[in-house]
Amino acid sequence: MTKMILIAALSATALAQPVFAQTKAPDPVRMKAKVEKLVRFGTRHTLSSATDPKRGIGAARTWGAGEFQKIGKACGGCLSVETIADRFTGPRAPDGVEVVDVLAIQKGTGDPSQVVIVAGHIDSRVTDVMNISSDAPGANDNASGTALVIEAARVLAGEKFDGTIVYALLSGEEQGLWGGKLLAATARARGWQVRAMLNNDIVGNTLGQNGQRVADRVRVFSEGIRFSEDGKANLTRRAIGGEDDGPSRALAKKIDGIAKADPAIGLDVFAVRRFDRFGRGGDHSPFLDLGFPAVRFSVGIENYDRQHQDLRTENGRVYGDTVEGMDFPYLAKVTALNVATLRALADAPAAPASVSLDGALSMDTRVFWDAVPGAAAYKVYWRRADAQDWSDSRVVTGGTETVLKDIVVDDHFIGVAAVGKDGAESLVTFGGMAPRK
Ligand SMILES: [Zn+2]
Repeated sequence: MTKMILIAALSATALAQPVFAQTKAPDPVRMKAKVEKLVRFGTRHTLSSATDPKRGIGAARTWGAGEFQKIGKACGGCLSVETIADRFTGPRAPDGVEVVDVLAIQKGTGDPSQVVIVAGHIDSRVTDVMNISSDAPGANDNASGTALVIEAARVLAGEKFDGTIVYALLSGEEQGLWGGKLLAATARARGWQVRAMLNNDIVGNTLGQNGQRVADRVRVFSEGIRFSEDGKANLTRRAIGGEDDGPSRALAKKIDGIAKADPAIGLDVFAVRRFDRFGRGGDHSPFLDLGFPAVRFSVGIENYDRQHQDLRTENGRVYGDTVEGMDFPYLAKVTALNVATLRALADAPAAPASVSLDGALSMDTRVFWDAVPGAAAYKVYWRRADAQDWSDSRVVTGGTETVLKDIVVDDHFIGVAAVGKDGAESLVTFGGMAPRK
């Protein structure tokens, strides 16, 4: 324990040094200190004090903004820190409440309107969602996601990307995903082209309710069929398939590929074919509502005694979302996977706006797609129509079409990604029918 404190103290000292002098990898010790700091605000309930300097959501948000500002200062102003706010009313806030999100924006050097977002909610709760006074440590739900977002900013600060990265600490999740709604509405109002929204909620435990430990797996939840699709898109999809290939599913598959390509991260992606946990939703839901690709990261195994619980012991059984229930090396791994995903997507061109296939009554399939500004090449992917993951690919340079010989369109799914100068790839756009001339 003494050693831990010593390391934590050294780490805190190190934070005062320029960030670039540090090893730029997610640091479990640093992240533990952040989660402990968040717990010390007593409660971060959205309806708790917004003005008390020590206890409540306001103090926690101010601290989060301060962390972003420190990181921004160390990288010579690479982050702009701001808050966005709106008033929400609902059954869980009958008198209304000012919901505030804290953002740090790392502006892209190529096309800053292309945006990737990493987010976690900072608010917490206990058993009774209306209880604003009891201690609600919310260590795992969701100081873990908050610490992840801040640590991702620290690791990526100073790196240059074509697109913009937005680091977001959200409020009001437990009241109705209000912070997520606020951020999604802000993204639309500002004209952000959101390539991906990564929602991190409960990302720091490995010991499950049943005593099983799962330290090498993270669940990534994604929708296949777009919630936002209209009747026409629905009819088209009926004709072409694509239930497993919506933009959010393509994002989940990309994250799976990133984890497989970098075994040093040490995580297997369990790409759940559902947009969130059974019958539930999260802060990525409002992004899906608006048609933006978004996924939720969550632990490989949950411990319900440590979520939304009053702090207590009953018959020797300990309840409550405290630091003791967490695994910080695991949290650092989930952070590393987020960082790798942000790096990959923030530097990639946009995905092709549309991809068309022409192969009816032929043994070959012609694939053609919209040109993407900034793309140096394109990668055409295909797989058998009974498989989930792409099995084959071909790089195409100097054009926006190709013919796949002996690939029968009826028996295959086909999609195209845009590739940047440095090899960074966009999400894959699923191939559909050519528009009738
Ligand atoms: Zn949560």
